[in-house]
Amino acid sequence: MTRRLAMAIIVVAVGAAWYVTLPPPPVTLMLASGTTESVRGVIHIHSRRSDGTGTVDDVARAAAQVGLKFIVLTDHGDATREPDAPAYRSGVLCIDAVEISTSGGHVMALGLGKAPYPLAGDPRDVIEDIARLGGMSISAHPGSKRPELRWSDWSAPFDGLEWLNGDSEWRDESPRTLARVLLAYPGRRSSALALVLDRPDELLRRWDELTQHRRVMAIAGSDAHARLGLRTLGEPYDRNSSLPLPGYAQVFRTFSITLPQVTLKGNPVDDAAAVLAEIRAGHLYSTVDAVATPAQLSFTANGTESTAMPGDEIRSRGPVTVRAATNAPGSDEIRLIRNGEVMASTRGVMLEQTVPPTPGVYRVEVNFPGAPGEPPVPWILSNPIYVGGAGQNSVTPPRPPARRVVARYDNGPATGWRFEKSERASAALDVIGAVGGTQLLLRYALGGSLAEGPFVAFVMPAGSDVASYDRLTFTVRADHPMRLSVQVRVPEGAAGERWQRSVYVDDTPRTLTVFFDDMTAVGTTASPRPPLDRVESVLFVVDTVNTKPGTTGQLWIDDVQYGR
Ligand SMILES: [Zn+2]
Ligand SMILES: [Zn+2]
Repeated sequence: MTRRLAMAIIVVAVGAAWYVTLPPPPVTLMLASGTTESVRGVIHIHSRRSDGTGTVDDVARAAAQVGLKFIVLTDHGDATREPDAPAYRSGVLCIDAVEISTSGGHVMALGLGKAPYPLAGDPRDVIEDIARLGGMSISAHPGSKRPELRWSDWSAPFDGLEWLNGDSEWRDESPRTLARVLLAYPGRRSSALALVLDRPDELLRRWDELTQHRRVMAIAGSDAHARLGLRTLGEPYDRNSSLPLPGYAQVFRTFSITLPQVTLKGNPVDDAAAVLAEIRAGHLYSTVDAVATPAQLSFTANGTESTAMPGDEIRSRGPVTVRAATNAPGSDEIRLIRNGEVMASTRGVMLEQTVPPTPGVYRVEVNFPGAPGEPPVPWILSNPIYVGGAGQNSVTPPRPPARRVVARYDNGPATGWRFEKSERASAALDVIGAVGGTQLLLRYALGGSLAEGPFVAFVMPAGSDVASYDRLTFTVRADHPMRLSVQVRVPEGAAGERWQRSVYVDDTPRTLTVFFDDMTAVGTTASPRPPLDRVESVLFVVDTVNTKPGTTGQLWIDDVQYGR
């Protein structure tokens, strides 16, 4: 009997100890007077179509449970799958998008149709393709601690970046925090999940640097898979080494984004267009709902002539009044950040600051007492208001035209040209008539399976004087949209070391220039840039980076020259 009593006391004591260590439940707030709840949703979700655990209907049901109005699904892919049309499921607007793996990190493409060829390769090329195809690009988990998931090319013109990524936050945590999460999860699910969140200082600093030069939107992305990887490998998750935890609904309760200017009307196509336009414009703020909910932010800038919202630009003849207010007066801390530096903060109802109309990028972070993280994750993070012409695309001046050129192919026989190919691919290289002379017709058929790595390379002898030039210029046209990899090769090792620059080609003839110092290494090379004095061949390569096996096509190339 006494033993049973002792046991009971121990159980109660352990239970009580467990209970007091639980993270606090979300604080319930009132809406600011005279306001209604804004449209809230979640982006970056994986379904069973890639490495998530639920069907699109499962995900939509979970979103409905949590009160979300829209979700953006981003299953892994190369954008060659036709996206599902926008649809309401369980009353939630479901927008289909894709997460593309580049050679330097993952990027989400929203508002993109079916791509004519697989999107892959250099980050800058994938970003360029997404923009050409009318989509918006958001760098996914750019600050991941895992090198293979981290974004590499900060000069690529992506439209937005994920400042908070649910999946990366998990992967970056110490075993101690993870143990705390697992312990707390049965008691307080979304609060437990929020324990892994931190303020990503380094990433926010990078973002503030970027917005000095161009407009970049920041967004919180759930990266919900409804599974937890047991091995610390990169995405996509391996089905056989993961736990089906936590559920979509719990992840959706942790954080979300708010689109204060959207009204959904019930037509999925129009509503999806409105949601995507607002995301693209940066008319959104991110909220950690597991801290306090609902989270409301009003952030405006009033000049002498106009008013601006986050994501927008304002020009004014006189001083500008910047105003931020939330629905948690008194208990929160509103911070006004100018060009990456905190310029004012308040624990009051509202922060109001008069600023000069000179260029400045202003944004707001709101801290809430008791928010998790080291340093604490902001409860609300706004997008910037660009004052006085700040954030204008600073155009990199084009390089001066070549003052000296030498023709490598112009007219007549293609002396020294040949092709190389994988075993089951085929190729032909012919000289055909063209206006005022001849041009080269390159034909290819990428036979063989993906595993065989089919390729066709049209090879031009580099000549002995390539090192006296800095660029290759040529006129090219293709029978269908594609990417062509322009490469140089030095005769080192079995297949030689190569460097490449990929170019977009379609049925419009274009004169393209590739700068040798803009080429990047193919695989591992001794130097990051090609040693031109040792370059033996110039290659025009069609391979499976951007071309599906089984594809046949033709290319016309003319007026190949070096310049400097
Ligand atoms: Zn990813
Ligand atoms: Zn993802």
